[in-house]
Amino acid sequence: MQSIQTFYNGTYYRSRLEARWAVFFDEMKIPFEYEPKAFKLKDKYTYIPDFCLLSSSPDTVPTQVDPHSPHQPVAVWIEVKPKNPTNKEAWKVETLSRQLPETEVFFFIGQPTKPFASGHGILKFLNGEVHPLKQGMVQCPKCGYIGISTATQITDEQDFCPDCQDATLSFETEQLTFAYATAQATVFPDPPIPHEDTHE
Ligand SMILES: [Zn+2]
Repeated sequence: MQSIQTFYNGTYYRSRLEARWAVFFDEMKIPFEYEPKAFKLKDKYTYIPDFCLLSSSPDTVPTQVDPHSPHQPVAVWIEVKPKNPTNKEAWKVETLSRQLPETEVFFFIGQPTKPFASGHGILKFLNGEVHPLKQGMVQCPKCGYIGISTATQITDEQDFCPDCQDATLSFETEQLTFAYATAQATVFPDPPIPHEDTHE
């Protein structure tokens, strides 16, 4: 599959799909960095994950909280793929997750959209083990907590919010639905942008 280099918000993304996920993270107000770090894997491989999500405040926690210091940023690593990863792609992510103990590394597969539609889903690796089923992003409708669902179907009963414990997590909050729609509808300009005030 051919990737189209895409310019969005001051950054060149290797593919349009990655840029769309960047739009999604921005809309969800999830702090992230794009390709911030190269990891040395065994057998001399170098691997640069696409995104690092950072939890910088209690209500923008992407997926996990450091139990020893709940307000310290915890890095979550994400590799975006248009379809299910190949064995080699999976090996890199699995190996990285083993090298970073207790750190979640994810494949985000497909377009930013409600999970379980058109092949989209999230695969989680932790300590070298893959969660066997695809997951999706969820949000608390009350406090705004953002996380990755443990449910594997849209109809499954969701967990209670681990933050406020006062509502059930949802795949379809207003903010999530809007962020998916915005990410899919964004028209990217041809780089380089001549003036910042140029709009299509
Ligand atoms: Zn909540």
